[in-house]
Amino acid sequence: MKRVLVTGASRGIGRAIALELAGRGLQVTLNYRSSADAAQELAAQIESSGGRAELLPFDVSSRAQVRGALEADVERNGAYWGVVHNAGVTSDAPLASMGEEAWDRVLRTNLDGFYNVVQPLVMPMVRLRDGGRVVTIASVSGLAGNRGQANYSASKAGLIAATRTLALEVAKRGITANCVAPGFIDTDMLEALPSEEVLARVPLRRLGKPEEVASLVGFLFDERAAYVTGQVLVVDGGMTA
Ligand code: NAP
Repeated sequence: MKRVLVTGASRGIGRAIALELAGRGLQVTLNYRSSADAAQELAAQIESSGGRAELLPFDVSSRAQVRGALEADVERNGAYWGVVHNAGVTSDAPLASMGEEAWDRVLRTNLDGFYNVVQPLVMPMVRLRDGGRVVTIASVSGLAGNRGQANYSASKAGLIAATRTLALEVAKRGITANCVAPGFIDTDMLEALPSEEVLARVPLRRLGKPEEVASLVGFLFDERAAYVTGQVLVVDGGMTA
């Protein structure tokens, strides 16, 4: 069974992606930072529907923690055929009043998290000699500026650039790397935003569902998506149309 790692799989979009990939017959490793109960429930749900799931908690922003966890995991269970770097955080403020902690935490999690998690998995994936898939969850905020999100926007623009570059580097091995860039999706992350203001910016006049992002990620893991690489696929209800 092919192994895939989903970071930030305990809630929201990552949870929906884990369910989608498990439903596609992939063995899913669920990463999370603190929501152990939610992750255990998800693993049980996947197993009870005939799928396979394992838990691998670590903080994606901690290089030492990630290295330790992933090296031991790959040594014990074998290389990953696929990885979804989904874990991400916001800490919004206008740049003029944005504190160092807000800048650092968002960049460390969203962008350094990509390096910490994906870099150690690339060579083992190459050695599988079976192609492979890397998907990163960016944001429409990585494609254009968004007031109050200089940190988040910079992290997601960096993630897009890193993913495109990786796509070029691993293409000859048959491995694809793509970004999915959601607009406003109904998860805990949106809690702080006023919903009328949000909906006014969305031509479809509703929030997206986590499953609507997950189905696009699922497609990228399909054999029929083997020729799609280095792309940013937007799922945003028409915001960037
Ligand atoms: P969410 O509901 O807040 O869930 C975030 C997930 O990431 C949780 O599973 C959380 O784990 C995990 N996480 C956060 N920091 C982590 C860390 N340092 N190490 C490991 N795991 C960590 O967020 P979401 O809305 O599903 O967002 C998922 C991704 O989509 C993010 O990258 C986000 O930027 C992107 N996105 C979201 C939207 C949106 O509107 N919701 C739009 C565009 C892009 P714990 O439960 O353990 O804390």
